Amino acid sequence: MKSRIPPGTVETETIAAVATPPGRGGVGIVRISGPLVQNVARALIKAVLNPRYAMYCDFLAEDNSVIDQGIVLYFPAPHSFTGEDVLELQGHGGPVVLEMLLTRVTGLGARIARPGEFSERAFLNNKLDLSQAEAIADLIDSASQQAAKSAVKSLQGEFSKKIQSINENITALRMHVEAAIDFPEEEIDFLSDEKISDGVQVIGESLTAVLQQASKGVLLREGITLVLAGRPNAGKSSLMNLLSGKDAAIVTHIAGTTRDLINEYINLDGVPLKLVDTAGIRAVENEVEEQGVRRALAEIEYADGVLLLIDLNEYRDWSAGITDLLEELPDNDKVIIILNKVDLIDEMPDVPVDFPYPVIPLSAKLGTGHDELLSRIKQIFALDLSGEGSFIARTRHIDALNRALNHLRQGKEQLSTHHAGELLAEELRLSHESLGEITGDFSSDDLLGRIFSSFCIGK
Ligand code: GDP
Repeated sequence: MKSRIPPGTVETETIAAVATPPGRGGVGIVRISGPLVQNVARALIKAVLNPRYAMYCDFLAEDNSVIDQGIVLYFPAPHSFTGEDVLELQGHGGPVVLEMLLTRVTGLGARIARPGEFSERAFLNNKLDLSQAEAIADLIDSASQQAAKSAVKSLQGEFSKKIQSINENITALRMHVEAAIDFPEEEIDFLSDEKISDGVQVIGESLTAVLQQASKGVLLREGITLVLAGRPNAGKSSLMNLLSGKDAAIVTHIAGTTRDLINEYINLDGVPLKLVDTAGIRAVENEVEEQGVRRALAEIEYADGVLLLIDLNEYRDWSAGITDLLEELPDNDKVIIILNKVDLIDEMPDVPVDFPYPVIPLSAKLGTGHDELLSRIKQIFALDLSGEGSFIARTRHIDALNRALNHLRQGKEQLSTHHAGELLAEELRLSHESLGEITGDFSSDDLLGRIFSSFCIGK
C-alpha cells in the first residue's frame, strides 16, 4: 500500500503512550510504534521478539530491576495498526507502575505520543482512510448501542466504500468529458450525449442517498438539542425531570427559579437528546434572571428544536394568550407546543384549526402525554433509525457531500446553459475533491491536525 507521507520526510520518531484509561485496572497497556521498537524491546525484556506471539516476561529497568511482569506483543511493520513496528506491553493497570514503564520506554529513545498520533500514523501509512480513523474515535465515544454499531460499520469501510464508488463514477465521467474536449474535431454534442446526462443523473442520485444515510449517522453521533422554553412555572423543570427520569432540575412553585441553563441527555432510540432547561421567558426586573432569559433566547437560536410549554391552568383561551410568546421564537420549524397541567383542567383543550405547530396536551406531574411527545419528537426529526443501514458520520462529512452535490448541479447547469464541456469537467473535478476530503485524499494538514488532536491519548 502506498504511504501518504510526502517523499523526503525525515525518518519518523518512535512514539509511546499508555493506551488504557487512567486509573486502576487489572491490565494496563503501553503502546510503542516506530523504528526504535526492536531496540526498546532488546533493552526492556532482554529476549528475542517473536512476531504476533504473546510472550510472558519481565519488564526491566536500566539497573535490571523488575518494573513489572506481563505480556509483550510485537507486530512488525507493515502488518500492524500503524503500519510501523509496534510493541504492546501489557502490564498491571496501576498509574504509578505504568508511568514507570513509560518513563523507561522514553528513556530508551521513544517520545510521548500526541493525542491520536497512532491513528494519524495508521492514516498516513494508508492502513485506514480518514473516515475510518474518525470512526475509531466515534466508536470509543459512542453514547448508545446504535451509535457503536454504526461506528463499527464506518470503521469496516462501509461509508468509505460508498464514497469510493461514487468517486469511481465521477472519474469515469470526467475521463469521458475530458476526452471529448481534447478531440473537438469529433464534434461531440455534450448536451445530447446520453452517457454524460445519465452519468450526472446516477452520480446525483447516489450522492443524495449517501447524504441521507450520513445525516442519520450524524444524529447518532451528535444528537439533537431541544430547548425547553416557556413562562416561569409552566412546568419546564418538571418536564425535564419526567423526560430524563431523575430530579435534574429543581422544581418549585416560586416563579423564576431556573435561572441558569441545565442540560440533560436522554437516549431516544439510540439518538442522544440534549435537553436544555431555560429560565422562564418573561419581562424581568431582577438582573440575574434577565441574563438567564437572554441566554434562553440565545439557546433557542442554536437549538435543533423547541418544546414550548404552556401552563393550561393560567389561561381561559391558551392560543390567544401565547401570541407574544410565539413571536419570541426564532424561525424554527421544529417547535412543539406542550399544553401542560392537563390534570388540573376538566376538559381537553381545543386546538385552533390551522395552528402552525404540533400541540400535545401533557401532565409533567402525572406523565400523561409522555409517549405521545416522544413519538412526535421522533417524527419531527425523522428518527427512523430502525434500518440496519446507518453508519456513523460527522457534520464535516455532510458539508463535503453537500459541496460535492452542488458542484455536480452547477456542472449540469453549465452544460445546459453554456453547452460547455470544460465547465462541467471543472465542476466534476471540484466534486471529486470535496468527496476526497471525507476519505482524506484531499485534506489540508490543518484539517488532519484538528481531527487527530481531538482523539484520546494512546489511540
Ligand atoms: P418551571 O418554572 O417552568 O421550571 O416550572 P416547574 O417545573 O418548577 O413547575 C412549577 C410548578 O408547577 C411546580 O409546583 C410543579 O409541581 C407544578 N407542575 C408542573 N407540571 C405540572 C403538571 O403537569 N400538573 C400539575 N398539577 N402541576 C404541575
